[in-house]
This record gives sequence, C-alpha cells and structure tokens, in this order.
Amino acid sequence: MTPETERTLELDSKYHAPLYRRLKICLVKGSGTRVWDSEGREYLDCVAGIAVNNVGHCHPKVVEAIRRQAGEFIHCSNLYYIEPQARLAQKLVEMLPREIEKVFFCNSGTEAVEAALKLARKASGKPGIIAMEGSFHGRTFGSLSVTGQEKYRLSFEPLVPGVKFVKFGDLQSLANALDDTIGAVILEPIQGEGGIVVPPQGYLQSVREFCDENGLLLIFDEIQTGMGRTGAFLASQRIGVVPDIVCMAKGLGGGFPIGVMAARGEVMDSFQPGDHASTFGGNPLACAAALAALEVLEEEKLVEKARETGRWAMQKMEKIKLTHPSQVTDVRGLGLMLGLQMASERIAQEVFDQCLKERILVNRTAGTVIRLVPPLSISRDELSRAFSCIEQGLSSIR
Ligand SMILES: *Cc1c(COP(=O)(O)O)cnc(C)c1O
Repeated sequence: MTPETERTLELDSKYHAPLYRRLKICLVKGSGTRVWDSEGREYLDCVAGIAVNNVGHCHPKVVEAIRRQAGEFIHCSNLYYIEPQARLAQKLVEMLPREIEKVFFCNSGTEAVEAALKLARKASGKPGIIAMEGSFHGRTFGSLSVTGQEKYRLSFEPLVPGVKFVKFGDLQSLANALDDTIGAVILEPIQGEGGIVVPPQGYLQSVREFCDENGLLLIFDEIQTGMGRTGAFLASQRIGVVPDIVCMAKGLGGGFPIGVMAARGEVMDSFQPGDHASTFGGNPLACAAALAALEVLEEEKLVEKARETGRWAMQKMEKIKLTHPSQVTDVRGLGLMLGLQMASERIAQEVFDQCLKERILVNRTAGTVIRLVPPLSISRDELSRAFSCIEQGLSSIR
C-alpha cells in the first residue's frame, strides 16, 4: 500500500464515524464498467455504487451536463422556478406509468420514502401502514420504521408507530393485518438489501387488487429496482402493476445524488404548500445530471440491454446452481439485479474473496447472498468473467 493510501485509511479511522465496514481499497477513478484504486489496480465493477451507476461510471454525457450546469448555476432554492427541474419533472412523468402525473424531488432514497409516508398519511387520512418483513427502505426514522429487518432497527426504538409487518409474498398475511387504522401498503417489487427476493408470480397484481378493494394507497419503493435495473424503467412496469406512489433514487442521477417521490395526480394534490419541502431537492445540478442520465438510458437502449443481458445471466446462474447444488441453494433476479443464494455465510465470503482477488467487485448482502448489480452496459464477456470467478471460488471450498 502506498503511503498516500495508508494516510487515507488513517484519517478515516481517526476522523470518520465508525459506521462503515470498508474494504481496504481506496477507489479514485471510474469509467464505464471499470474502476481503479489508488494503487493503480483496475477492477470490473459488478456493484456499481450499489445499483447507482446504471449508465456506467463517469459517462461523458453526464460529466458534460454536470460541468455545463455547474458553470451556470449550482443552487438557488425552491423559492424560485428552476428550469432543469421543470424539464426533469416532465421527462420523468413521460417515462413513468400514465397514471403517475406529479413528482417531488429530494436528495436520497430515504428522503423519497419519508415524502411518500407523509403523502400517504395526508392523502388517506389514516396513520397506519403495512410493510414487509425483510424489507429495506432507508435509515431515517420514518423509512426505518417501515424497514422489516431487526438488525437495522435495534437500538433505535421507539420508531414511528402504526406500522404492521407482514410476510413478503404472502397474501393471507397481508389480509390478516388489515384494520381501519391502515391507509397504505409499502413494498419493494423485488427486495434488494433483503437478498434479491422476487415475490411469487401474480403477487403484486393481487396486492394492487387488495389495495383497491380496501381503499388503500399502494407505495412502491423502486429506489433500487428503478432506472432500468430490471429490464424496464420501473420493475413494476415490467411486472405490469401501477402503484399510487413510487419512490426512486440510486441510479436516477447517473451517480449524482437525487431522489424522487412520484404519485397519481389526485394523490399528490392532497399536499399543500408547506406540507413538505427540501432545501436542496431538485437543485439545478442534480436535475441536469438526471436529465443526462435519462438521455443516456434511452440513447444506449440500456433498459433493453439490462433485459437481454439479464435473461442470459439468469441461465448462467442456473447452471452454476446445478453444478454446485450443495453450495448454491438458489439463484434469483430480474434484469441486472441478480442474487446467488449461498448455503452459508462462509461460502459467500469465500466467493466474495475470490472475486476480489481477481479484481472483480461483487457485493454480499443479507449475509449469504452474492449480489450483482453492475452498470447496465456490462457485456456478456465481462459478466462471464465474474461468473467464472464465482465458480472458481465455489470449487476451491471443501
Ligand atoms: C438504497 C435503498 C434505500 C435508501 O436509499 P438511501 O439513498 O441510502 O437513503 C431505500 N430503499 C431501497 C429499496 C434501497 O435499495
């Protein structure tokens, strides 16, 4: 390790809150599907900033849009009209399902969920929410309150009251939780942090019907599944179900922080001036970055690419599972949101270590799941390299 890198590690451990379990790697540069560390080593990136760099690292169009906008105007506040914000709002509404007519901008995933929870209360007039076991919606108090994983909640209770958790993928469990305090249901169409959990076929359709029958608002958290990740702009568009409220963030800004909470027109219109706001939300720079990222998504047909490469990848993963049945117990995913369920944490760690040795970045989530969420532009050859490496890791374990 160079003295400069050692210095970075030292400064971090001395001055930064002890919140991250970081790998001892300092990344300094990215381009497309590749990143480089401070020692000059190149990596194939199948993490993409955790499903953020969907259009690839430092896409020239995104870089240029940020440069140009930074020279014009970086921030002015929502006391005034902001031209790139208005254009981004229009662009998003055009890409979202027809029923989703209005958007609110913020700066992250958790903020998009906070906005959705407040809107759900205001629009339904009810405080209660049904959320899913195993879900992840963020780490601020509202979003944490609907996150169905003990490990994130521990030490921070009491959280926002009125949340009931039900089994993801189980309609009976949902029906049993209904009472007259409940105004909305929130879920990820495919659970991300929870381990790439795909619900049974027809489940989201049935949840939609259940919400309609009982006058509940349906909130989809597409913070990870959105922006083309699953082979449609939203996973719910691929599955064919329209929510009342939808949250996006992660990939939306081409790597730049931005979040959005979008809703049916009549639902959003239950908000009045002052009900909610964000100082930075929808600032010129973030909106210029997102507009450029959306253009790249369309021009390079990345949504279609994610769908095709994803279909091929699932077949490869099925083969890996067949070859290593005692180690790989399940493979799951849609588009380029892929997960290999390992039989133990030790196996997942071995596979992770082997990939890192070969300079392929993958992610381990929910303890035992190897998660691949690469840039949507990744080639089959590149993904093949990652899969070979995973197999090598599996073969080396006895
Ligand atoms: C990452 C993520 C969040 C939280 O986003 P932040 O930008 O980290 O606040 C919320 N929901 C889902 C589904 C996510 O994947």
